[in-house]
Amino acid sequence: MSSSPKSLLDLPNELLWMIKDAVGEHLLGNACFYLLCTRTSAFYHTTSAADWQRVLRANGLGLATYEYVDESEYEHIAFACAHHAWACTHPHCGRARLEENYRLMGEATAAWPTLRGDGAAGTVRSPHFDVAPDEGALVPSTLFAHIAFRAPARTRAARAHTQQLAYLRPAGQDARQRVPGETLDAHPVALRTFASFPPLEAMNVDAPFEVPRMLNRTGLTARDVCRYLSSCLDQKVYPDTLKDALRELGDDAAKGISWDANTVQECVKQMRDWFQVVRWTGFEYQRRERNRWFMLKFEPRALPASAKDVEGLCSPDPAADEETESDAAHLRVSLRQGVSF
Ligand SMILES: [Zn+2]
Repeated sequence: MSSSPKSLLDLPNELLWMIKDAVGEHLLGNACFYLLCTRTSAFYHTTSAADWQRVLRANGLGLATYEYVDESEYEHIAFACAHHAWACTHPHCGRARLEENYRLMGEATAAWPTLRGDGAAGTVRSPHFDVAPDEGALVPSTLFAHIAFRAPARTRAARAHTQQLAYLRPAGQDARQRVPGETLDAHPVALRTFASFPPLEAMNVDAPFEVPRMLNRTGLTARDVCRYLSSCLDQKVYPDTLKDALRELGDDAAKGISWDANTVQECVKQMRDWFQVVRWTGFEYQRRERNRWFMLKFEPRALPASAKDVEGLCSPDPAADEETESDAAHLRVSLRQGVSF
């Protein structure tokens, strides 16, 4: 009489194969099964680069637009992300991010028939030209609500590479707190997360800020988006742009900015200043008849009493002011009225 199996490893190969099949394309499930023992790792000897690419994609992870990898690297990337997910303690990276990505990719695949059965690359779309009004939802990643930008150096000579500006905001960070030393590059799960579900090959961002059309033929990632936005941080913010940005906050939200209009206008000279005065909460996809855009969304953040306490924020520089006193007066009235035009 044979004894009953005492552990997973006592199971016959046929049953282990069934378990592997049940794991499907779940990244952490596959990583666990691979690392369990030599018997289970042997099940992956025939796993191709396309299979690993499909697993990455099913877990909402992609390559940056300028990133070219050898086929043999997909497996390495998959395990690097799995190991990071187990080790990372940031509440919006790690395992929590992977689980959300996996769920959103599953929902996107169910809602978009053209995403099914297209192999490892899948089908990505331009929401501005290819999407019919009755097609499935485009869901921007919630990751962006937890990304901020450190202030770039004011002079080109001292400026850091733009990719080194984005970082995952620590929970509860306010405008006075110093930014963490590590950048988004230290979080491969967050860095590789698709910007939207389903993944898109193009995103257009509407006014008030001028953001170039963001492109990645294999699906825009958080890394792509942060690179594009970082390259815009020096963009000058004119009074009308600031007025539009405040209006987009919404009446109640604009009233939540604790500084007076003069202080806001004196401090927000460039796009990077706006990102420090308010909190970036991510993207919203808007379908307005034929025009479909993503909007950058912001909300008020806790500001210290003095603008000088915000690290890296412009100090008022009257010599650089190009706006007139009437612009400032108009903005003051707008803020008082809750920015309704
Ligand atoms: Zn992380």
